[in-house]
Amino acid sequence: MKEHSTVNHVKPWASQPSCRQGTGSTTFCVALLWVLLAVSCAETAWGGDADAPAISAESHLLRLSDSATAASNFTDEGGMETGIVMVPEPSPLAVQYYESGNVLWAVRWLWTLTIPVLILFTGLAARLRNVAQRIGRRPIPTAIICGVLLLLLTFTMELPLAYYLGFVRQHAYGMSNQTLAKWLGNVGKTLVVESIAVAFVAGGLYWLIARSPRRWWLYAGLLSLPIMFFVALVLPIWVQPLFNDFQPLSDRELDAKILELASQAGIEESRVFEVNKSVDTKAVNAYVVGFGDTKRIVLWDTLMDRLSERQVLFVVAHEMGHYVLGHVWKTIAAIFSILMLAFFVIDRVAQAAVARWSHRWGFARLSDPASFPLLVLCFQACYLLFSPPVLALSRYHEREADRFALELTQWNRDGAEGFVRLQQENLSVPRRGSLFQFFRGTHPTLAERIDFCNCYRPWEFGEPLRYGHLFTPAN
Ligand SMILES: [Zn+2]
Repeated sequence: MKEHSTVNHVKPWASQPSCRQGTGSTTFCVALLWVLLAVSCAETAWGGDADAPAISAESHLLRLSDSATAASNFTDEGGMETGIVMVPEPSPLAVQYYESGNVLWAVRWLWTLTIPVLILFTGLAARLRNVAQRIGRRPIPTAIICGVLLLLLTFTMELPLAYYLGFVRQHAYGMSNQTLAKWLGNVGKTLVVESIAVAFVAGGLYWLIARSPRRWWLYAGLLSLPIMFFVALVLPIWVQPLFNDFQPLSDRELDAKILELASQAGIEESRVFEVNKSVDTKAVNAYVVGFGDTKRIVLWDTLMDRLSERQVLFVVAHEMGHYVLGHVWKTIAAIFSILMLAFFVIDRVAQAAVARWSHRWGFARLSDPASFPLLVLCFQACYLLFSPPVLALSRYHEREADRFALELTQWNRDGAEGFVRLQQENLSVPRRGSLFQFFRGTHPTLAERIDFCNCYRPWEFGEPLRYGHLFTPAN
């Protein structure tokens, strides 16, 4: 739920610049980040992480000129000659936003990891457990109260940095429309949602540890699967409407075109919503969220304001790609396997740490709810350690969703120009460092995506389409 969660759980079409809407408590919710990572990948967005590195300017230009001939022969629906879209240089402000964002990301993680260490070594965890015991009396209520008290403490310790990252900084860069009242309201609502989640997690985990001290990690890992599905199911109907208004598309003409595209892609009963993100941000995005009956494509109102109709339809085609290619399922399956491994590692590391420092921390067993900060710390470390393979899978899915959109629409130029708009509106840099991509990149860089839109045209050379069997070509 913390801010990272925002980044993750709306895995957008365009990546969301780091630290955009930091309202929640980082530390505690990192324990739940895994679930959110899954959900986020379940909500595969169009614009994931904003920028990209990788392609050198030289090779990029070379590839552009290679494809220039093909492009010059390409004529779009309106009879306009279409060509190559150049990757624009980022503005100095965007570069500054990117570079300071990287430093802040590191600072935030450092603080996130330091908080549970402080809570453990100052003996605060044990003292809070004593308070919880007086109120809760029985083991499970004690664990729940202890978890929520620790969440409140962490939340308070993170609030100044969250305020700077989520409010002050966004306004300083002209990225936010949010009033302080709305930001504070979101903070309050996030805290309520997190408290409910932490109550379930703490109650469930300590019940499992008490019942099966040796195999709790296995059962917790197995349970994470239905929990991920549950969160994916309820997020769009119970949680997201707390923060913004969702409604069916007001533009009926666009809605009809989207339905047409959906039937071409073999998607029945597609639901498309618009959300009033313009009250919060100037950035543009779109995403797929939900599961089963709650699955839907959500378009930010800012996206429809700033992009042309064909660019918006290209974004929708990208989202449909996630849908049709089963990216939600695949991501949940990948995260589930990694979670099983992570829970095992967490159990071993946490047991060893308790044996080593129990005298300083004031508890002697993992089944003591005072160990909650330790579990959270281990989760955070595992999150950092294990997220790169999940992110790599996500980048692959994003590339394939772009490919699907290109094959379905054949609107290379609209796709590329959409990414250029994304770069400009979201204050992104087109080429991000490989370290950034490794630890945080949910999407290929914008330069890579623009380049791909420019070059990928197998239909012009009579080559087979990779996903041609999944949709009906337009007339
Ligand atoms: Zn996507």
